Amino acid sequence: MSSIYEKYQLKQVINASGRMTALGVSTPRPEVAEAVLSGMNHYFEMKDLVNKTGDYIAKLLEVEGATVVACASAGIAQSVAAVLVRDSDWLLENLHTTAIENNEIVLPKGHNVNFGAPVGTMVALGGGKLVEAGYANECSSAQLAAAITPRTAALLYIKSHHCVQKSMLSVEQAVAVARQHNLPLIVDAAAEEDLQCYYRAGADLVIYSGAKAIEGPTSGLVLGKRQYVEWVKRQSAGIGRAMKVGKEGILGLTCAIEHYLSAAKESGAEMVEKMTPFIAELNTLTGVSARVVWDSAGRDIARSEIKFDEAVTGIATGALVDALRQGEYAIYFRGYKANEGIIEADVRSVTAEQLAIVASRIAEELNKEQVA
Ligand SMILES: *Cc1c(COP(=O)(O)O)cnc(C)c1O
Repeated sequence: MSSIYEKYQLKQVINASGRMTALGVSTPRPEVAEAVLSGMNHYFEMKDLVNKTGDYIAKLLEVEGATVVACASAGIAQSVAAVLVRDSDWLLENLHTTAIENNEIVLPKGHNVNFGAPVGTMVALGGGKLVEAGYANECSSAQLAAAITPRTAALLYIKSHHCVQKSMLSVEQAVAVARQHNLPLIVDAAAEEDLQCYYRAGADLVIYSGAKAIEGPTSGLVLGKRQYVEWVKRQSAGIGRAMKVGKEGILGLTCAIEHYLSAAKESGAEMVEKMTPFIAELNTLTGVSARVVWDSAGRDIARSEIKFDEAVTGIATGALVDALRQGEYAIYFRGYKANEGIIEADVRSVTAEQLAIVASRIAEELNKEQVA
């Protein structure tokens, strides 16, 4: 496919950073690409397609209802609109021009994150008003409950590495608070891998990004209690129209979910095997030490941690990371700890050949410093 890169003069990317929206997230398997293609090549009664694929996904996941949306952000906006509008035809068509008294969406303050766009923007798109509960570094069940008033429409819980993790209530505890106050709970689990646990914990609506863990086309998945999912679907005649998912996205994601559930995932041990020559190569470089580290969230993901002794390499690690993006291939790492001289390579989307390129590019950049 080098022709695309040539035609538009695009930079080729080696993605050692994991699932990054800014790099195009993931590369779906051929079966998914075929499902997208056959979607584009046929006509459907779109309501029929939405309903039947939704039922199919719901059955696969053993949940009451499911529907494909344009992306997880669209899922958040339409879920908020769904709990405000419900069955009202008037509100469906006048969401932002009608003052809705109980439009408050309560979430733990430590969940009010920017995932690439602010959570609050999506809530506002859906007609909601964000209300923060607790503090930046703590939110208990009692603190969440304390933010609930007669104006509250729903609780929102963001399950993500972007959020503050310590001293935050669990999804199960948020479900208990929602039940006590007879409110729906919306869970944004955009990048999470488990498509069932939050629903099983009792969430009314759960939102996933289609291209992240599921490795589908650009799309999103909303699943949950049947009535709530039906209300989300109604939004296609409201705000959902501005975030429409096409037939190709619907069929592509449905196919991707089916494969996601059945296909064997690359195991941590396989990742270690792939990165072993890479790590050995890096350890031959002066001032560089590399080793295998395991995912801090406890998932079966192994990564290469590369540590630079800046006194020896003579280059700030942040500057090295920048330089590696500038060559023929733009090489992206997980650079969260570059200020400590540490970067991580996530090898899931990187071939063995690309790892060899990465190692030689690092050697090349360090060499420049030593010669200079
Ligand atoms: C990625 C992400 C989103 C947005 O997903 P899109 O499908 O890109 O809209 C929302 N919330 C969280 C926590 C995310 O990680």
